[in-house]
Amino acid sequence: MDFVTSPPAIAEWTSRARRTGVSVGFVPTMGALHEGHLDLVRRAKSIHPKVACSIFINPLQFNNPDDLKHYPRQMDQDRTLLLDAGCDVLFAPEKEVIFAAFTPRKYDLGGLDEHWEGPSRPGHFQGVVNVVERLFHYVRPDEAFFGEKDRQQLTLLRHIAKQERWPERVTGCPTVRATDGLALSSRNARLNAIERSQATILYKALQRLSSLAFNSPVETARQAGIAVISEEPSVVVDYFGIADHDTLEPLTTWGDRDRAVGLVAAQVGPVRLIDNITLLR
Ligand code: AMP
Repeated sequence: MDFVTSPPAIAEWTSRARRTGVSVGFVPTMGALHEGHLDLVRRAKSIHPKVACSIFINPLQFNNPDDLKHYPRQMDQDRTLLLDAGCDVLFAPEKEVIFAAFTPRKYDLGGLDEHWEGPSRPGHFQGVVNVVERLFHYVRPDEAFFGEKDRQQLTLLRHIAKQERWPERVTGCPTVRATDGLALSSRNARLNAIERSQATILYKALQRLSSLAFNSPVETARQAGIAVISEEPSVVVDYFGIADHDTLEPLTTWGDRDRAVGLVAAQVGPVRLIDNITLLR
């Protein structure tokens, strides 16, 4: 596996792949890799002969300095995991390099940041879009793979890719979970044993919601999910809601749609965790 840190080097790497006539898949990450990330790499590799991965802790998308400071970093272990997963090149730029001669712009997010993560994390999605644009600009992949775990991010990137006519295909992949249902996340590493066990309540609540979806009124199903989380009094809910599958607009009725999404964010010990579930009629 190649390891590059400079934008010209990754641009050259992609050009070289293209000259040999092969397509390039791309998995952007912030490192501290787990099976969720590696699943994206393997999916990319099953489609594209060459796969690039990036590790870049994007300061623009952190609105909590403490979260940024404590975000786990484990570059040596990540390199080994990526090599084993079949990644062909790791692009790990320094932040000074990414932000040299680049002024972040304000994107029209089409109101997709008005709910859920948006109000709790002002500026977060602008930060995500600006850095993904930079990474795409240098890597120039054919297709980029993102997790449904960050559902709103995926919805937003699809919207921006279309609006800005980015040539890259944006593909969503299912959430990878621990055997007890907790969505894998780099932030889980900061949970102690008790908090780790409390955190499983989020997926239990989403499953309860899923069992009631389309059969009970939206608010009844939502309250039933919230009631599950209240079984763990130290887990503090930020939001627990039901949204349209494509626009993520909050729902008050199911209407005639055949699918929707349940979304949750909650503080568990020192970390804020998010998760979501697709609800099917
Ligand atoms: P991150 O390093 O947290 O920025 O995540 C990098 C990519 O991995 C994003 O597209 C995430 O949505 C995705 N991802 C993170 N956790 C999971 C998971 N448990 N299952 C699937 N994809 C994930």
